[in-house]
Amino acid sequence: MTRPKLVDLHVHSTFSDGSLSPEGLAGLAAKKGISALAITDHDSLEGWEEKKTACAAAGIECVCGVEISCEESDKETHILSLLADPFSPARKRLDQLRHEREHRMLSMLGKLREVTGIEIGMADLDARQAVSIGRPHLARALVARGVVKSVSEAFYRYLRDNGPIYIQKTRLPAAEGIALAKELGGLAILAHPGASGWLDGLDRFVEYGLDGVEAYHPKHDQDTVGRLLAYCRDRNLAWSGGSDFHSPGDGPDIGAPGVSYEALSRLRERRGGGAA
Ligand code: AMP
Ligand code: ZN
Ligand code: FE
Ligand code: FE
Repeated sequence: MTRPKLVDLHVHSTFSDGSLSPEGLAGLAAKKGISALAITDHDSLEGWEEKKTACAAAGIECVCGVEISCEESDKETHILSLLADPFSPARKRLDQLRHEREHRMLSMLGKLREVTGIEIGMADLDARQAVSIGRPHLARALVARGVVKSVSEAFYRYLRDNGPIYIQKTRLPAAEGIALAKELGGLAILAHPGASGWLDGLDRFVEYGLDGVEAYHPKHDQDTVGRLLAYCRDRNLAWSGGSDFHSPGDGPDIGAPGVSYEALSRLRERRGGGAA
């Protein structure tokens, strides 16, 4: 029996808060038997050439995408743009979100100093390639400094939502995020609705113009996946799935939810020609 072709349409690289380069991600994905990979960094489409080259070298398809930080009813909500145009002029709109992430990190470093006396500067963060800086960079610096033993302890003690060092980042209203995902030339996909608390509130995003839902995600149990797939079928929406992989040994592995290649074929059909 031939093995089904699998895809992973949601992973993070060193261009945002992942700890592997595109080359590292593509190599790992190929080793796991993944046929196509979308490296969907936070608020950034940078690094497309490097991502494409890395995937080609590993013999896998590269899907262009980005995970946009949004909010709806004060809740953090992520919108993926999948099969986006890496050179879309609309990508300028992501620059502002990244710029504000840098200011927020400076404020978090200040808060860390005030609350704990621990001095960490921007230069201490291992974020050489990161055009989009986030809490995991600070979590890893706290591990390297020996303040905590693990990234999850750093989040638990300091960085979790509403934790002692937490500062909210700038987020686009979800309706604007969905419009931007489409202006970028991609399909607007609601990321991990089960993890963001939207399982019973999907209709509003459809009204905003959503193209599809990330049904498969490590934080979705089988029942949730089934419910989301049924929702998509009933409303003629596309579905997607990915591991949300950030770092080896830290959370679910690349390819974790085992998403069939059919998801990508359907996304491409819906997106039409010219997609990267
Ligand atoms: P930020 O975008 O800077 O607010 O950081 C959010 C990122 O932090 C997410 O994309 C995850 O990568 C990571 N994250 C959030 N909560 C946790 C947690 N409890 N443990 C480890 N990583 C987390
Ligand atoms: Zn992340
Ligand atoms: Fe997310
Ligand atoms: Fe993500």
